[in-house]
Amino acid sequence: MSVHTSERTSIKTIGHYVGGRHLSGSGASVPSYDPASGAQTGAVALATPGEVDAAVKAAEAAFPAWAQTPPLKRARVMFRFKELLERDMHKLATVITREHGKVVSDARGELVRGMEVVEYACGIPELLKGDYTEQIANGIDAWTMRQPLGVCVGITPFNFPAMVPMWMFPMAIACGNCFVLKPSERDPGMSLLLAELLKEAGLPDGVFNVVQGDKGAVDALLDHPGVRAVSFVGSTPVAEYIYARGAANGKRVQALGGAKNHMVVMPDADLDKAADALIGAGYGAAGERCMAISVVVAVGDATADALVERLAPKVRALRIGDGMDEQVEMGPLITAEHRERVASYIDDGVAAGAELVVDGRGCRVAGRENGYFLGGTLFDRVTPGMRIYRDEIFGPVLCIVRVPDFASALRLVDENEYGNGTSIFTRDGHAAREFAHRVQVGMIGINIPIPVPMAFHSFGGWKKSLLGDHHAHGTEAVRFYTRQKAVTQRWLVDAASLGAQFAMPTH
Ligand code: NAD
Repeated sequence: MSVHTSERTSIKTIGHYVGGRHLSGSGASVPSYDPASGAQTGAVALATPGEVDAAVKAAEAAFPAWAQTPPLKRARVMFRFKELLERDMHKLATVITREHGKVVSDARGELVRGMEVVEYACGIPELLKGDYTEQIANGIDAWTMRQPLGVCVGITPFNFPAMVPMWMFPMAIACGNCFVLKPSERDPGMSLLLAELLKEAGLPDGVFNVVQGDKGAVDALLDHPGVRAVSFVGSTPVAEYIYARGAANGKRVQALGGAKNHMVVMPDADLDKAADALIGAGYGAAGERCMAISVVVAVGDATADALVERLAPKVRALRIGDGMDEQVEMGPLITAEHRERVASYIDDGVAAGAELVVDGRGCRVAGRENGYFLGGTLFDRVTPGMRIYRDEIFGPVLCIVRVPDFASALRLVDENEYGNGTSIFTRDGHAAREFAHRVQVGMIGINIPIPVPMAFHSFGGWKKSLLGDHHAHGTEAVRFYTRQKAVTQRWLVDAASLGAQFAMPTH
């Protein structure tokens, strides 16, 4: 396992960005780390209620002028922002890898997927077009238009510090709203770089703001009367809390939660391709993806045996190390606590009687002894009663559950409380069609392990993986970040008065 030996940055204070200016923060701070070295690299300010209020007020002040800015001009800011993201791709990817730990090629991938939402937002003049019906009655026309809400908030998780915020703010801003982002306190630096690029792209001050912080900052945003809508992505318990508190305060809320994504492997599947797909989908980003595959549903013992035979050597051979090394395939976990939590699930699986095929505990990376590394782990003969099956582990731990047939596989996926993504590997078109048609999950892959919808479709799960109505980005985002007005008009030119009417007008 090789490591990158370049010098690490010294400790930086990571503050807020309000009204186009950096603020260092007046309250407490928490440390942030480079997960590959374990060294503290940042002190993240925790926004006080006063600082949250200042950010919302800055956004409120910028709103009237921004909402009046023609969509074409708003789109031009997005075009320029996209160019700047491309210009700074390397620098941004490096910041993601240093703060999050994922390999730098994956960091670039996350940026590109975020940038695709910016590209979609460039089409906002087209997307905001309303409907028009001429002559709904004699001399009467009707149309609809979509108008921005005001101040929208994004509360985002650690695992995609660029992409998930970019699921939200490009669309919110292009729709004419102002935005306050509360990024994860575990990898907060990207938010400030995005703010600077938006300013350079010509976004007026106050349209995009950042407050750093934890629950305190989130609660201040959820309770603030100036906030109209809240987009959240994170774990399900927090999603439930945000949804309830935001809605109780009269806000529009979309809250995307956790996941336990199953990949069904049918006996007729190409098992070499399925095994390759599982390595990327299970261990990419050290399993810290909401669309990671964490459960393999092997249909038939022969399928399971063949998969274990193919997977085990690949899991043992994973190149683990500092994500800045382009040769590395899997970086560290986000924090020391999370690494211990994931390792404790491995203990739990062994105690519960699952068969530990590959054990990732005890992984050491030369030159990075204090990094938060855990090796790839593979369990076979996992059963639905075990905690390693039920809980979202969010680490490089793949569990194989053996089922006798397609119907049992489908039932297992459906009975799981999460419904973010799922996938089926098969050569049988009918089985694939039935699976996509019947399964109770929001995003389905057919011979695709991680079926993340493109920017112009919308992203969202079912069941406990999403609370609220609208999915993220795509046309769903236009609906979430605007409200509709319906206008019915008659011009009384030469029309004879009909007198007062007391019945509902009908044809
Ligand atoms: P998290 O729920 O711990 O934190 C998410 C955000 O909520 C952060 O900004 C955090 O500061 C804030 N927060 C944390 N605890 C809070 C509390 N008690 N009250 C108010 N705010 C709180 O999630 P995470 O660990 O950063 O991210 C991993 C989780 O996110 C996983 O469960 C993963 O599945 C999920 N996720 C889901 C999707 C999706 O699209 N469904 C995408 C990415 C990540």
